[in-house]
Amino acid sequence: MPSLEEARRLILDHAVPLGTESVELIDSMGLVTAEDIVAPWDMPLCDNSAMDGYAVRVADCGGSAKLRVTGFIPAGSLPATSLLPGCAFKIMTGARIPEGCDAVVPFEETDGGCEIVTISTRVRAGQHIRFTAADVHRGEVVVPAGELIRAPEISMMAALGKSRVTVFRRPRVAILSTGDELVALGEDVVPGKVIDSNGVTLAASVKECGANPELLGIVRDTRASHIAKMTVGLKADIFITSAGVSVGERDLVREVLTELGMSQVFYGVDVRPGGPTTFGVLNGRLIFCLPGNPVASMIMFEELIRPAILKVMGYKRVLRPHVQAVLQESVSKRAGRVKLLRVRLESSNGAYKAFSSGDQSTGMLKTLTRADGIAVLPAERTSFTAGDEIEVHVISSNAVMLEA
Ligand code: AMP
Ligand code: MG
Repeated sequence: MPSLEEARRLILDHAVPLGTESVELIDSMGLVTAEDIVAPWDMPLCDNSAMDGYAVRVADCGGSAKLRVTGFIPAGSLPATSLLPGCAFKIMTGARIPEGCDAVVPFEETDGGCEIVTISTRVRAGQHIRFTAADVHRGEVVVPAGELIRAPEISMMAALGKSRVTVFRRPRVAILSTGDELVALGEDVVPGKVIDSNGVTLAASVKECGANPELLGIVRDTRASHIAKMTVGLKADIFITSAGVSVGERDLVREVLTELGMSQVFYGVDVRPGGPTTFGVLNGRLIFCLPGNPVASMIMFEELIRPAILKVMGYKRVLRPHVQAVLQESVSKRAGRVKLLRVRLESSNGAYKAFSSGDQSTGMLKTLTRADGIAVLPAERTSFTAGDEIEVHVISSNAVMLEA
């Protein structure tokens, strides 16, 4: 049975980016470039003013200079003439610098004159001018292939006129819930039955990664129904099943998937909760079988499936932030297996404090709704006390930010 780390390594070894596609720039957010983005022109495109003020000639300034204001260049218009000695043009931020001008003096450093402007500050050549190509040279690679597209990359591509971009495509992730006890969300639930919360939870988590979930619904614990839906699920890029993966007498998931051609990479991970998690492959497709317990299912999605989806999407960094935190209470566990503890994080003076977020029985969903992270308690140790340093995988990005 692989350790959590080994399981992740085995999975990531099988996860490779899918094909590429061209998308509208706005739809590329959170995806990864599959082409080098090359600047078709210089940026800025021409020398322009960085301030609202006066375009001047440095040679005319010095002491208390009085210059004749002979022109006005608003943003978006071009200077009609060149700037003559002894003269100044009023100029707005972003407007093109006129011929003859070699500095801009901001309004607040002048008397603001309309016909004659007085400048009494020292003026340096080139001041408050944004020079052609100061930011980007034509032909330069501004966003290399393999880069995650965030708002700054969108901004750069938009500024360079790029309205479509080639990216690694979003994987289709099929999700199937199994179990005789399940009822669909929205239907009546009676004692003994359980709402299929895993389906929608997994779909939401897949969406958060930027991939496309496909909910296949619920199948009963019969071979025929398993075969019918699993045949569909195996057509997706990634297939996730929920429940029926333990050794219960009706746990058919692995058996049927194997019959349908899955080759099992591992059955079970040396970790609690989430132990029975299974991973297999078929024709380059990734297949994950999660335990039915909602907490185990979510934690295993976090630890194993999310990194795989991101890698398939072309991400180089596929893990959430890991932080060292100081445990604030004592915790005990069984020897021999890594325990994943749901914790709440507090940060003070740059250090993290970790608190257990509640009863750690696998059935306790509330403990996960209150958690900011998953602490990885090493296999060998059985007792931890307040003050111990532990590693926490941060699952709620707000946990590493300051409260507003
Ligand atoms: P199993 O992995 O089949 O042994 O299921 C373990 C536990 O998870 C049981 O308490 C199930 O009722 C529960 N469970 C199984 N599937 C789901 C699901 N789709 N949504 C919520 N709970 C589930
Ligand atoms: Mg079951």
